[in-house]
Amino acid sequence: MSQSSLSFDVTRSANPRSADERAKILEKPGFGLYFTDHMVAVRWDKDTGWHDAAVTPYGPIALDPAAAVLHYGQEIFEGIKAYRHADGSIWTFRPEANGARLQRSARRLALPELPVDIFVESLKQITAVDKDWVSDADEASLYFRPFMIGDEAFLGVRGAHKASFYVIASPAGPYFAKGVAPVAIWLSTDYARAAKGGTGAAKCGGNYAASLLPQQQAQAQGCSQVLFLDPVEGKYLEELGGMNVFLVYGKTNTLVTPALSGSILEGITRESLLQLARDRGMTVEERKVTIDEWKQGVSSGEITEVFACGTAAVITPIGQLKGEGFSVGDLSAPAGEVTMSLRKELTDIQYGRQPDRHGWLVRLDG
Ligand SMILES: *Cc1c(COP(=O)(O)O)cnc(C)c1O
Repeated sequence: MSQSSLSFDVTRSANPRSADERAKILEKPGFGLYFTDHMVAVRWDKDTGWHDAAVTPYGPIALDPAAAVLHYGQEIFEGIKAYRHADGSIWTFRPEANGARLQRSARRLALPELPVDIFVESLKQITAVDKDWVSDADEASLYFRPFMIGDEAFLGVRGAHKASFYVIASPAGPYFAKGVAPVAIWLSTDYARAAKGGTGAAKCGGNYAASLLPQQQAQAQGCSQVLFLDPVEGKYLEELGGMNVFLVYGKTNTLVTPALSGSILEGITRESLLQLARDRGMTVEERKVTIDEWKQGVSSGEITEVFACGTAAVITPIGQLKGEGFSVGDLSAPAGEVTMSLRKELTDIQYGRQPDRHGWLVRLDG
């Protein structure tokens, strides 16, 4: 059932925020705190497929208390940004990759696959009505949160026969308000993020729910994020709660990241950085990496930089790794050169300050 052309019914908000109110929010948006005046909704049911695509005023969703998502967690999501370029135009980064990933997540969670062109069109539709929310401030963006829920009212355990896809949008300031600063992360040995054969490779809310307790433990140890190991041997690096992880071997100009294992989320930032590193002649390795390799490599000086990456923060330098009874790295050391130059290169492409040689950008307005 290919439905590549759904037309969107647009209802403008009767009381959108005033230019003044919006300006005040955009001055200091933080992350995920404020939402634009509109949202996108597209419905699906087993008999008719995708239908009723609409842009509506932003507001609460009415759900039957028996809706599948409330009981069995049938939910998936995406995260993707809009960037304003110097000439005022608005662009996004590799949206087809996010659309394809949403389809893979849908398959795993027994939700319907949204055609990628409807996914991309939904970003264009919300941009058309909320474009004034895309700030031109330095490293500001409009963060889109597309998501899908099973909303059939039925308590039997099976994939819902009704689902809805939504897009909401939230203005985001620079992730590091005071400049990019290395963080400390906590190695969780009590918990795994994902199980073998589980949902680790799907971007689903349930994975995040499972990461919140270890995340609290990390915070209690003065760390900002958790690092998870593989769920079988508890030996190999997987990723952080919501970011992929990279090691830089400075002397050999090598970039290493854990190979996709079936329980690692396939980050689009991860894949893009691997490409940029290859382009600049670095050796790139996607392979198994043990936690001992990290500890020993930092101690011996072979591993010169470590960082995490994802759409929200782009690249976060990791200054220190802590775990039960050990600590490696130096939190007070400045972020590494490779980390910062990859970060600059990627954001320069996203904000149109450097040629988009891989054709990663898609225009959202006009
Ligand atoms: C979204 C996400 C990432 C990063 O993916 P990007 O496409 O780079 O934003 C990494 N790990 C997890 C668990 C995620 O949910």
